[in-house]
Amino acid sequence: MKLPPILFTLAFSILGTACAQTSEVQSDIKKDPKKMKDSEWKAILSEQQYEVLRKKGTERAFSGEYWDSKEDGIYKCGACGVALFDSKTKFKSGTGWPSFYDKIADHVEREMDESLGMLRTELLCQNCGGHLGHVFDDGPSPTGLRYCINSASLDFEKRK
Ligand SMILES: [Zn+2]
Repeated sequence: MKLPPILFTLAFSILGTACAQTSEVQSDIKKDPKKMKDSEWKAILSEQQYEVLRKKGTERAFSGEYWDSKEDGIYKCGACGVALFDSKTKFKSGTGWPSFYDKIADHVEREMDESLGMLRTELLCQNCGGHLGHVFDDGPSPTGLRYCINSASLDFEKRK
């Protein structure tokens, strides 16, 4: 049986549409966190996290979630989730901010910071560029360093 041309065209266009739908590939490539726009960060971070991580703010001393925490685990970047500090290197600094004498990976980057009329070494997450805090050379042994970090820049994961 020969189909009338109009039916043939109809059948073809329905099939054509179905094919187009099934072959449509969803683009699901994870975005490079360093290329994320301000508005995108704003959408996924809390107001305070955004202020500290993206605008280099500093939370008030003794106000953050982790300054006095003694739990055993890993502190990760609050923006992108890479591991930054181990609770084993956390120490009581009396400053009111979580303080560590060492970092656990090369995910912590240093940059000179001349803001507020002081010369300080700023710490950034190497993976996403988020502001973490500053490092000073008055820490305990074995490194003599004090990584002074905002709780708002961190996410804590208990050790299993
Ligand atoms: Zn990060």
